[in-house]
Amino acid sequence: MSHAVITLEEKQRAYAQLHEVKALFSQRNWFAGTSGNLSVRVGDFSPEQFQFAITASGKDKSQQTPEDFLLVDQSGKPSEPTSLKPSAETLIHCEIYRLTGCGAIFHVHTVFNNVISEWFWDRKSVPVDGVELIKGLGNWEEEAHIDIPIVSNFADIPRIVPEITERLQHDIPGIMLRKHGIYAWGKNAFEAKRHLEAFEFIFEYVYRWELLNRSR
Ligand SMILES: [Zn+2]
Repeated sequence: MSHAVITLEEKQRAYAQLHEVKALFSQRNWFAGTSGNLSVRVGDFSPEQFQFAITASGKDKSQQTPEDFLLVDQSGKPSEPTSLKPSAETLIHCEIYRLTGCGAIFHVHTVFNNVISEWFWDRKSVPVDGVELIKGLGNWEEEAHIDIPIVSNFADIPRIVPEITERLQHDIPGIMLRKHGIYAWGKNAFEAKRHLEAFEFIFEYVYRWELLNRSR
């Protein structure tokens, strides 16, 4: 299948957005040890054919270089000649785009999302009750209750994909990998960032709340 043409402007816009988010998240120490990855979709979308810009594998995300991003297609393969490697976790981005048609996906590893994913692993989701920041996820219900799904983490990334397919919920713009991190998405980079920030606030809240309750 040949790739649809992406204009230089579209590509540069996506790279500029990734650059900005990467610098900001890096200041928050959200990319420990080159972990994490960010992507922004470009051009037309159908579940069978799309392209996105994504962070290249193994780069120190606190540095800005001319080789930070590349364009890949719906199967996670580079759609332009390049010696850069897409992140190993690109296949997870592919599946989330295919299922949701969203515009951007941000993935970070943090201590709070790791601890919380393990703490609630038995129930395979993180329960959250009535926290104001649930509104940051686009849910405006009063005293909303949500369950943020957690899936298995395997070293072999393709093994994770079927669980994403099965567990992704269209009313919750994020999914956690056990003791690994969160994938959050939105219709564009602005919304994906808002969702990720809301999730991370919620994880810290839940962590502290669970801890307080144990010492009661
Ligand atoms: Zn990861």
